[in-house]
Amino acid sequence: MTETQIEGLADDVVAAFGLSAPVELDRIAREEGIQLAEGDYGDEFHGRIEYLAEVEAFVIYHPRYITNHYPSRVRFSIGHEFAHFYIPHHREMLIRGKAHYSLEGFRHKNAVERQADVFAAALLIPTRFLRERMGRRGFLSLSQVLTLADDCKASAQATAFRYTRFTKEPHLALVSEDGNVLYGFASEEARAWGFWRLRDFAIPEGSATLRATAATGIVEDKTEVGIWFPARGTHAELWEEAVQLGSSTRVLTLLSWSNYAK
Ligand SMILES: [Zn+2]
Repeated sequence: MTETQIEGLADDVVAAFGLSAPVELDRIAREEGIQLAEGDYGDEFHGRIEYLAEVEAFVIYHPRYITNHYPSRVRFSIGHEFAHFYIPHHREMLIRGKAHYSLEGFRHKNAVERQADVFAAALLIPTRFLRERMGRRGFLSLSQVLTLADDCKASAQATAFRYTRFTKEPHLALVSEDGNVLYGFASEEARAWGFWRLRDFAIPEGSATLRATAATGIVEDKTEVGIWFPARGTHAELWEEAVQLGSSTRVLTLLSWSNYAK
C-alpha cells in the first residue's frame, strides 16, 4: 500500500464510525473488539499490539494517560497500533504470531513503522477537519497547527507531520535539539525540489529556532534557503516559525517559501 492509500484507509475508519475530532479511540477499540490495556511498562515503552490466538482477539498495550506527561503521545501510540490492526499486511503478520514492539514516532526508517505513523496522524487529524482548517488559503501558520493539534488532542509534531504531507505548498517541518536537526518532513513540492534528507545538520546561528529555546511561545522571522542549506547554492526567501515542544528541549520549526508562485 502507498502512504496515500494508508491515509485513505484512516479516512474510511473515521467515516465508518462517523467520527469527528477529537477522534474517540476507545470507541474504535470497543466497536472492533480490541482490548486496550494501559499500564506501567517503562519509559521506553510506546505501545504494542498482539493477537491472542486462543481468544481470536487483539490487545493493545499502551502507557497510562495519567502518568504520561503527554496524553497526545499516548493517543498517537494507540493510533499507531490501530494501523497494525487495519493495514492488511500488518495484521497478517500479527496473526502469524509476530508480536511487535513499536518504536518512538517518526525517527525510524522501517517501512512498517513509518506506515503506522502515517495512519496514526491521518486518524487523529481527519482529512475533512484538516481541509476545513486550511480553507481556501491552502496553508496553516504554526499557531494554527498548534490550535489544530489541541482540537484533535494530537501532538504538535504529529500535526505538523500530517499538515506537511497534506499541503500543496513547498514547506518543511523540522524537529531539533541542542541546535541540531534530529529529523524533518518535507511537503511533496519540497521533496520534488530535492529536500529529502532532513536530519543531522546544524541550526543556523541567530535563527528563530535557536531563539525559541529561550522563549515562551512562537518565535518567527524571515530567513533564506542559503542560510539553512548552504550546499544547495540556491536562494529564496523563507518564513521561519519555531516553538519549543512541551517542557522538552526540542524545538519544532516550520519553514515556508515566502514568494511561492503557483
Ligand atoms: Zn509499530
